[in-house]
Amino acid sequence: MSEPRRTRPKGTQDFVPPDSARLLHVENVFRRLAERCGYQEIVTPTFEHTDVFVKSSGEGSDIVTKEMYSFKDRGERDLTLRPEGTPGVVRAVLENRLRLPCRLYYVGPYFRYCRPQKGRTREFHQVGVEALGEASPLVDAEIIYFGTDFFRSLGISDCTVQVNSIGCRDCRPAYRETLRKSLFDRKERLCADCHVRLERNPLRVFDCKVESCQLAIQDAPAPRQHLCRACELHHEQVLSALSRRGLLYEANDRLVRGLDYYDRTTFEYISASLGAQDSLGGGGRYDYLVEEFGGPATPAVGVAIGLERTLLAAPAVPLPENRHLAFVVWLSEAELRAAEDLADRLRAAGIPAQIDYDSSKVKGQFKSADAARAACCVIIGPDEMSKGVYSLKDLATGEQHEVSSDAVAEAVRALFRD
Ligand code: AMP
Repeated sequence: MSEPRRTRPKGTQDFVPPDSARLLHVENVFRRLAERCGYQEIVTPTFEHTDVFVKSSGEGSDIVTKEMYSFKDRGERDLTLRPEGTPGVVRAVLENRLRLPCRLYYVGPYFRYCRPQKGRTREFHQVGVEALGEASPLVDAEIIYFGTDFFRSLGISDCTVQVNSIGCRDCRPAYRETLRKSLFDRKERLCADCHVRLERNPLRVFDCKVESCQLAIQDAPAPRQHLCRACELHHEQVLSALSRRGLLYEANDRLVRGLDYYDRTTFEYISASLGAQDSLGGGGRYDYLVEEFGGPATPAVGVAIGLERTLLAAPAVPLPENRHLAFVVWLSEAELRAAEDLADRLRAAGIPAQIDYDSSKVKGQFKSADAARAACCVIIGPDEMSKGVYSLKDLATGEQHEVSSDAVAEAVRALFRD
């Protein structure tokens, strides 16, 4: 039998220590900020029935047409690894009959079959918040600001936020027809994908990455110029709430975002340091999505942020020389039991502690402590046992002294410098 492969699937990434700690760190910064704004965590399955995504993201969207990991399970069910967060959250809110309004946040892996490149992988991690049942434009502004606060907390200083409005059920149909007519006149300059977009949802043409298409649509009518009075007012209120917070946004009247469910506000965070894949995250209003799932009319707005790109844009946090870890060293089998007891006692006091059970020689145990980048060793030998003390060795300075059993936890903690 041949060995299993040692390479990960194309487009995936390993987070190994110490880098895995950076991923955890950004997730925890996000959790803290989200909870501070009243969001509670929701955990939904990593796969859903395929129609959850097809019906919400839109049949003609890039995600649905090109990027989904869809499969039939052994019971012939059509399932899809989630390519984004919002549809699963909406499904779960309805299925679990959560009381509205409710504020939810999520953290987890997402999957899209795309061409891998820097900042674009087939499995990636997103964090996001969803405010369901809240209609005020002040919520849109609060969420946009929340994202900038998250990036600022991680030391990302080159992030700009682009904002737009794409109208509502009342004003969009007429605008869509105006746009379709205008794009028809320049059809021969658009790519094959855009021809399909033109039929299905002409707004998507704004999302096309082909340069000649972008040139062709330079003077096409933008949604922003065709808003109804209510949408205009909503947009003005979002922008003035951002200005009140001193947030320097960029108006981008071509920002439609690639999903069908958005209405009114759309926004995106862009980092200048990321190259081609420069979007850190984005979001918008989706006031009709809950209804499309058969739920009650429920205004909603949310944001999703990609963590791989956030890590690329964030300045590297220097890792501490020594970890907050105590290594318990035993000199002979006779002290092993006492070493185990001490490790348990330190752990119970909240101090990370480790023992090398396999190396019967002290030298081997010290090597393991170095490899684990422990801050100190707590040594137990026959001398220490007879005196009822421990020898505490600071691995940064090499200094060693005896500590009493009562004082050991505090003495170890004192050596945990950053
Ligand atoms: P989207 O829902 O496409 O707007 O994605 C929101 C954010 O998720 C993006 O701004 C990226 O930061 C991240 N993201 C989306 N797709 C990928 C991918 N294939 N690889 C890495 N990050 C991604």
